[in-house]
Amino acid sequence: MRTLSPRDYKNASMTADRTDRGNSLNYWLALVAFVIFAATFTLYLQASHESERADEVRRRSFLLAEMLRQSSDDLTRMARTYVVTGNQNYRRAYEEILEVREGKRARLLNYQNIYWDLLLPGAEKAATERRPVPLIAMMREAGFTEEEFARLTRAKAESDVLTAREYAAMNLVGSSTRQADTNRERAIAMLYDAEYDAAKASIMAAIGDFYRLADARTLAAARQSATNAARMRLAIVLSGILLLTVLAAMRLRMSAVLGGRVEELHTRIARLGRGDFFTAIPVPRGREFSILGWLSETQASLATIAIQKQEAEDRIRHLAHFDLLTGLPNRALLQEQAEELLDKAKSEQRPLALMFLDLDRFKNINDAFGHSVGDDLLVMLAGRLRGQVRSRDTVARLGGDEFAILLLDTTARQAEPLARRILAAISEPFQLQNHELSVSASLGIAQYPAHGETLDVLLRHADTALYHVKREGRSGYRFYTGQMEACTIRQLSVANALRHALDEGQFRLVYQPQISIKDGTLVGAEALIRWTHPLLGEVSPVEFIPVAEDSGLIMQIGEWVLRTAAQQRRYWIHAGLPGFPVAVNLSGVQFHHPSLPGLVGKVLKETSLPADWLELELTESVAMRDPDAAVAIIDQLHTLGVRVAIDDFGTGYSSLSYLKRFKVFKLKIDRSFVRDICRDADDRAIVGAVTRLARSKGLRTIAEGVETIDQMEVLASHGCDEAQGYLISKPLAPDQFEAFVKTSKATLLA
Ligand code: C2E
Ligand code: CA
Ligand code: CA
Repeated sequence: MRTLSPRDYKNASMTADRTDRGNSLNYWLALVAFVIFAATFTLYLQASHESERADEVRRRSFLLAEMLRQSSDDLTRMARTYVVTGNQNYRRAYEEILEVREGKRARLLNYQNIYWDLLLPGAEKAATERRPVPLIAMMREAGFTEEEFARLTRAKAESDVLTAREYAAMNLVGSSTRQADTNRERAIAMLYDAEYDAAKASIMAAIGDFYRLADARTLAAARQSATNAARMRLAIVLSGILLLTVLAAMRLRMSAVLGGRVEELHTRIARLGRGDFFTAIPVPRGREFSILGWLSETQASLATIAIQKQEAEDRIRHLAHFDLLTGLPNRALLQEQAEELLDKAKSEQRPLALMFLDLDRFKNINDAFGHSVGDDLLVMLAGRLRGQVRSRDTVARLGGDEFAILLLDTTARQAEPLARRILAAISEPFQLQNHELSVSASLGIAQYPAHGETLDVLLRHADTALYHVKREGRSGYRFYTGQMEACTIRQLSVANALRHALDEGQFRLVYQPQISIKDGTLVGAEALIRWTHPLLGEVSPVEFIPVAEDSGLIMQIGEWVLRTAAQQRRYWIHAGLPGFPVAVNLSGVQFHHPSLPGLVGKVLKETSLPADWLELELTESVAMRDPDAAVAIIDQLHTLGVRVAIDDFGTGYSSLSYLKRFKVFKLKIDRSFVRDICRDADDRAIVGAVTRLARSKGLRTIAEGVETIDQMEVLASHGCDEAQGYLISKPLAPDQFEAFVKTSKATLLA
């Protein structure tokens, strides 16, 4: 569609003004034309009426003249017949005619057509007019001119004279019987002589005169009227043409304003009103500024608005249903699709599996490499997950590194290999912004209908299964079982029992020796906490430390551990044990608490323990959570003279730049690398790299979890400095540790 410029609109408004003026002029023209038309029409009616009246006058005058002539004829005939025949009927008829003419008797209807001779022999009298009117009066009413009337009255007067003569003749016949023949002869002579004929002719001449006069006059009048009517007819035709022309002009102008037919406009507007904004309204060229043009523009704008609205709704729907980062469905859409699938599963008795997946130590990756790497990982992970399932399965991101996978028609037997495939796909290294990362995930599975019938219940149970995988060391899958619920209950009871554990003295510390690989001398002892609860029994720190961290109890417990270990070490000085530091584990919560350096200083002072006999173990992932803060805290501890070791090294993705800034003393190579070191070349390579790195930075290395001689030998060959593990000793109670040190002194040194 052509877009209109401001100039177009200016032109349009000028055109609209002109159109307005043209419209009102047209309107007035139409009104005037109509008035003229109406007036001429009225005049025409009058004229044609006038002409009819003239015709009627002409007919009446003719009738009157005819009546006079006829009655005069009739009288002569009746009188003559009577005098010849002596038949009384003729005389009576004569008198009747006379009476009618004088207005003494009512006229027979259709008087002009009556032939008196046929009525004579006692025939039934025809119907009469209602009122007797003298002929002379009728003539006077007929509106003749004086001249005409004079002729008629003359004829009438002469006719009356003749009547007197006729009476005289008729009386002659009727009065005497003896001289009948003579009288009759005389009477006949009276009515047939030249004088009578002359009188009769004079009457007829007068009537003829009248008739000619009246005829000429009425004919002229009738002609005049007819001419007038014809003129009026012409005027009507002309004014009608004028009116039609003005109306046609108005219609033209109107259609220019409307741009199309009224019906079309009506249909278009009704369609827009019904909400059909998408049917285009074509506008003929040159009609852009008509109402149709305007309607077309309105339609186009409405269509654009409707499209934009639809797009906005789609966007909102997308935002409401999809995860922005990965583009996967979010929890809301999962909920919608789950409802649908569960309905289907229910009505068609089909199995369904729900997997709940969570990356292991995802936080470490975010802490170590930043959130943008973490985000990239999640996006790639989403792609891998989608790649493992069928297109009709739903993979949703629930938040953070949590994903749910909804699988229709999937039994436990089918879910198991799929879970393994998914975990294998995740364990493939991820190439992210110049980093190659290996991650693992934990996965919990719940089945419909065995474990629940709603998404909420299935999710909760899959989450419980996932929690168990995490607790059992992560990187794996578990199906939900009823017993897991009992474990959750145990978690609650652990949390509960933990609150009183310190006051009730249920904690104790055990110490695990650390030796030098080179010469077997004791180089340290790691303090490890033990908790024995009267009902729960032995509870592993792996189980209760996270609970203590969640509840905040870790601060008091950690302080107790620090103080107890320091006291123990102080005691061993008195007991004459050789000099070695005692290592205490620090929880992340403790490490990041601002009170830590103060507490450490206070405990050292209380126990008057030389600072270099206390070592603090900080896990790599805790140090990397906020590396800059960690640098500062480690600096403070270093200032106190306390040694710091990085625990579980190799799992927290330390960057070299930070390692350089951490003033640490020792790296503790994580047990997971030691476990398979004899079989796994990668693990050996990592251990070798760590030891070389440590040596270059002037740090010591210690391997944890050493269980076999073979492991010890491999570690030795890779230049690892120290070892800790069941091969040397399990963690020991203080007196056992004392005994271990005393008895093994010789062995170790040997
Ligand atoms: P960790 O700091 O890595 O401690 C080493 C763990 O490895 C200890 O488990 C120890 O008993 C175990 N271990 C030592 N040698 C071997 C071996 O040869 N083979 C095997 N399989 N394991 C070995 P434990 O005592 O159960 O402690 C588990 C974790 O609990 C510790 O891991 C530490 O993170 C935490 N923890 C223990 N005591 C404390 C404490 O006092 N404070 C804090 N914050 N955490 C503690
Ligand atoms: Ca440790
Ligand atoms: Ca460790």
